[in-house]
Amino acid sequence: MSKYNFSKIEPRWQKEWEKQDLYKAVDFDKRPKKYVMVEFPYPSGEGLHVGHVRSYSALDALSRKKRMQGFNVLYPMGWDAFGLPTENYAIKTGLHPAKVTEDNIKIFKKQMKSIGLSFDWSREINTTDSKYYKWSQWIFIQLFKKGLAYQSEMPINWCPKCKIGLANEEVINGKCERCGAQTEKKNLKQWMLKITEYADRLIDDLEKVDYVEKIKTQQINWIGRSNGTEIDFKIVDSDEIIKVFTTRADTSFGITAMIIAPEHSLLKKITTKENQDKINSYVDFSKKRSEFERTQLEKEKTGVFTGSYCINPVNNEKIPIWVSDYVIATYGGGAVMIVPAHDKRDYAFAKKYDVDIREVVSGGDISKEPYTGYGKLINSEEFNGLLSKEAIEKITDWLIKNKVGKRTINYKLRDWVFSRQHYWGEPIPIVHCEKCGIVTVSEKDLPVELPHVEKYEPTDTGESPLADIQEWVNTRCPKCGGLAKRETDTMPNWAGSSWYFLRYIDPNNNEKFADFDKLKYWLPVDLYNGGMEHTTLHLLYSRFWHKVLYDLKLVPTEEPYQLRYSHGMVLAEDGRKMSKSFNNVVNPDDIITEYGADTLRIYEMFMGPFDQTISWSIKGVQGCFRFLNKVWHIFNNKEKIGKVSDKKLITKLHQLIKKVNDDLDNMKFNTVIAVMMEFVNVWSEDGKILSKKDAQAFLYLLSPFAPHIVEELWNILGNKESIFKEEWPEYNKELIQEETLQLIVQINGKVRDKIEIKIGLSEKEVQELILSQEKIQKWLDDKKIKKFIYIPNRLVNLVI
Ligand SMILES: [Zn+2]
Ligand SMILES: [Zn+2]
Repeated sequence: MSKYNFSKIEPRWQKEWEKQDLYKAVDFDKRPKKYVMVEFPYPSGEGLHVGHVRSYSALDALSRKKRMQGFNVLYPMGWDAFGLPTENYAIKTGLHPAKVTEDNIKIFKKQMKSIGLSFDWSREINTTDSKYYKWSQWIFIQLFKKGLAYQSEMPINWCPKCKIGLANEEVINGKCERCGAQTEKKNLKQWMLKITEYADRLIDDLEKVDYVEKIKTQQINWIGRSNGTEIDFKIVDSDEIIKVFTTRADTSFGITAMIIAPEHSLLKKITTKENQDKINSYVDFSKKRSEFERTQLEKEKTGVFTGSYCINPVNNEKIPIWVSDYVIATYGGGAVMIVPAHDKRDYAFAKKYDVDIREVVSGGDISKEPYTGYGKLINSEEFNGLLSKEAIEKITDWLIKNKVGKRTINYKLRDWVFSRQHYWGEPIPIVHCEKCGIVTVSEKDLPVELPHVEKYEPTDTGESPLADIQEWVNTRCPKCGGLAKRETDTMPNWAGSSWYFLRYIDPNNNEKFADFDKLKYWLPVDLYNGGMEHTTLHLLYSRFWHKVLYDLKLVPTEEPYQLRYSHGMVLAEDGRKMSKSFNNVVNPDDIITEYGADTLRIYEMFMGPFDQTISWSIKGVQGCFRFLNKVWHIFNNKEKIGKVSDKKLITKLHQLIKKVNDDLDNMKFNTVIAVMMEFVNVWSEDGKILSKKDAQAFLYLLSPFAPHIVEELWNILGNKESIFKEEWPEYNKELIQEETLQLIVQINGKVRDKIEIKIGLSEKEVQELILSQEKIQKWLDDKKIKKFIYIPNRLVNLVI
């Protein structure tokens, strides 16, 4: 018998499929469209990770099935290639980042092709290609014209090691996401995108899409919309007012201090002379601390009294103003009212600095701990006796009537820091003119191409290396023609990925980012799979850009993705993250060499539920290899494929068709593989035969997962055309209903027998059948049956 020679089979079919252009998505085709997308990778020097293979193979299986079901499937791939690792590598080696990128892409592409993924390569995109980033720049100009891009001097997260400004979401636990160094605050002029203007729609429109629930929840929490009250606190002996946002206006009579952030604009003004030195050194101290350190609940609170007071409008009490860095300047106006009796952090602060703790909501024991729940108001003058919810409304009404407050909505979401002081990114298409101010580059002059530089290191001032290239920086103002300077900041690596799903639809268009009619045909993306870690960054950013384009009538849909799904990570065999330093990285190339691409694909589907994180197991790989060998031998064994199928096996086959169909549509890849393995085990048993037609039906089912071996076996059975031009099989309902099941028979609650019955029998038929069983009759021994309890498809209990 012939050997399963995957190393010969796989490259052969890959070449053949490419020759036949089997996976081409056709614009405006009459078949129903299906746009399936996986997040495009960053082509790093490490090559493809087995984690990539997991989601690419899964969505590949789905795409292949949908094609066989008659859909016009778009399953594209590209490269998200701007970013720091490439730049750092270029700095180290002296190679140009573009060259490094090109080399890495070659490796990635070769690896993907060796897995037999059915991408439509004619739509390949690369965010670092100037033909692509021309449109990233063009979209930036539209954002600017709409007032959604602006420059602002602001404290940004600064990584002293990478010398780069980081968005809040790039700072993990106070550390730089890229290099792990402790971040600091630094004031720099930054380009900002006004994502906050879309906060409500980014929440509300989640109702229009079918994302997995946990993804929706994460986005909603990230945006952090809350309804509340803004209260004005007049500063004593000053005309200045501190505005404070709170969701708990019911605790207003419990305010015993005010805290402002070290960055608050009023701090200098209100600090009294005798407190000046203390305040200055405190501000310096807090500058060195990350936002994470400052705001952690468990961390000890620090603070200094400014010497000034403000007035609580509800009772005209004089309240001391402190400065403390657990208050953040960019959230809620940078000031908070301190209600120690009813807030954990305020309580800790009050205990440490001996601030009054005054209970105004009953329900807890504030001598032990703060009470943060709702309750009945006390010590609150005319509002005593009200319940919290009602009190929030009544006190807010009172504040509005007295013109010292208003109802308002607050968001956690901040505007998006869009500047990077780095070389390897899209130049921001802006010119600074002394006469005209900020001017956008003319659209006809796009792209603003990255100039060649000798050194890629960021400058010590924090400016981008582009600032050192005089012949590039100095230019003419597009408006007045006078001398002007180019913007030297580049875009963050999130820019190219914010709209790439649009470019796949029309990748070679030089007139527009994409043709509107093509967008109308293909949008929205029907299924978009990616990492859970991108939920609040990339996924939110791209929804924001898409909505801006929608408002400009440049895209036809309000939302880019109809369904978002997230895969779990693949860990190393030892349960840790795969890492060179742990020496536990599994290279997909090695698995392909030893077991073949089909085994790799099958294993990555089989390893566990798709949305869960799973550790690699070489035993699991070997099990999948044995399964494919079994399939190979069955199809090469003349005794297993005959004229007529074994009856039981036919029923099993149609159950299998149903199961594969349902589970694949529901992203349950692991159970699909499990039932196929089970089926092959039964078929292997002595004397079990399938007809050629039924055997081919099994091949259809396996084809999305293990395309190479299936195409080979299909060919061996005498078929000339590719199996991927065939139709997906339908199951026969009647055949499935013919199935039998095991019914448990109890007598007085004790299991006495198990009998095989046909599914679909009536209760009366079941009763007759059971009473006719010899074994049961023996148990009954002519006793009278008091009760016949029947739980369909499960058990019967006879009470005698
Ligand atoms: Zn860093
Ligand atoms: Zn000008």
